[in-house]
Amino acid sequence: MSPHDPARGFASLAVHAGQEPDAETGAVIPPVHFSTTYAQDGIGGLRHGYEYGRSGNPTRTALQTQLAALEGGAHAFSFASGLAAEDTLLRAALSPGDEVLLGNDVYGGTYRLLARVLGTWGVRLRVVDMSDADAVCAAVEASPPQILWVETPSNPLLRITDIAGLAAIGHAAGALVVVDNTFATPALQQPLALGADVVVHSTTKYLGGHSDVVGGALVTSDDALAEKIGFLQYAVGAVSGPLDAWLTTRGIKTLDVRMQRHSENAAAVAAFLDGHERVERVYYPGLAAHPGHELAGRQMSRFGGIVSVALESGEAARRFAESTRLFTLAESLGGVESLVNYPDAMTHASVRGTEAAVPVEIVRLSVGIEDPGDLLADVAQALAV
Ligand SMILES: *Cc1c(COP(=O)(O)O)cnc(C)c1O
Repeated sequence: MSPHDPARGFASLAVHAGQEPDAETGAVIPPVHFSTTYAQDGIGGLRHGYEYGRSGNPTRTALQTQLAALEGGAHAFSFASGLAAEDTLLRAALSPGDEVLLGNDVYGGTYRLLARVLGTWGVRLRVVDMSDADAVCAAVEASPPQILWVETPSNPLLRITDIAGLAAIGHAAGALVVVDNTFATPALQQPLALGADVVVHSTTKYLGGHSDVVGGALVTSDDALAEKIGFLQYAVGAVSGPLDAWLTTRGIKTLDVRMQRHSENAAAVAAFLDGHERVERVYYPGLAAHPGHELAGRQMSRFGGIVSVALESGEAARRFAESTRLFTLAESLGGVESLVNYPDAMTHASVRGTEAAVPVEIVRLSVGIEDPGDLLADVAQALAV
């Protein structure tokens, strides 16, 4: 970013990075480029490096420029899904025999990718409570891993990990420190500035923001790693298509205002649930009683839009999840509409019975941007069923 660039603040970058008006027509919204191939001015005479749609596409470049600017990274790569991004990163960074130290309540698909896909290619996996620095130190000392993989806030229990502290532990052991920033988004938390090496996103969630596009991204300032990721993005080809890239770019332009509203609504829902007679425990980092409250206050600019709640039994949790009316019972999160999810049988069914399993009493709410009064009324009626 040049010092003369007028877009420097986060909300300005979200709207403008990678979005210069079209050079030829002045179209304020750059066109979506569907072409799979590019005319060459003589053999090998590429215009702006574009050759073939898997290796590069201007709409994808625009999204990658936007993502790099928002996370404060030198390089960003966009993929067909969050898991495709993760797979590409893991293959770029690891060799058979290498080990990943993983948080114990990461996204179920991340655990499954490591345990059931990369595991058969010789990648080893250990699980630890990443929010417990002593446990992480002990695990790293017992055997130094190649990657420390953290999600903060975690899914679905909203544990908060000290990214700067974890980066120091990881770097002392020579490990790459990876943060899945899907829940917080760069609007609320900037892991690279806190010392992480790579940021991972499921852009399907808040970045896209409208539950209409699946995608993923990697952002890093490590040039050598970026070269390996770029090669695999091209050589394996799990890239985002032009329309997916465009929808994601369009979603990101409103990220800052959406995250503000998601956070305000989630705080209202968490406060309502906290102390309700049917509720055993509320998991929301914005609540003063949350064990990660103070750390989250330092590391995040707001507390985000996800609230999890423990009811008195698995049966009560299932009943609540099936009784909301404005909150739609569905997987995923981060869209403008409120969703309710029962992790044990839905998003986290793949980790049932493993060390990453989610208690049966837990319900996760992705609090949308509707009117807060309507959301509270819906939660109240569902708890009364
Ligand atoms: C959804 C999700 C993923 C996986 O992303 P997909 O786009 O579904 O492949 C990874 N991490 C987190 C935290 C997620 O919520």
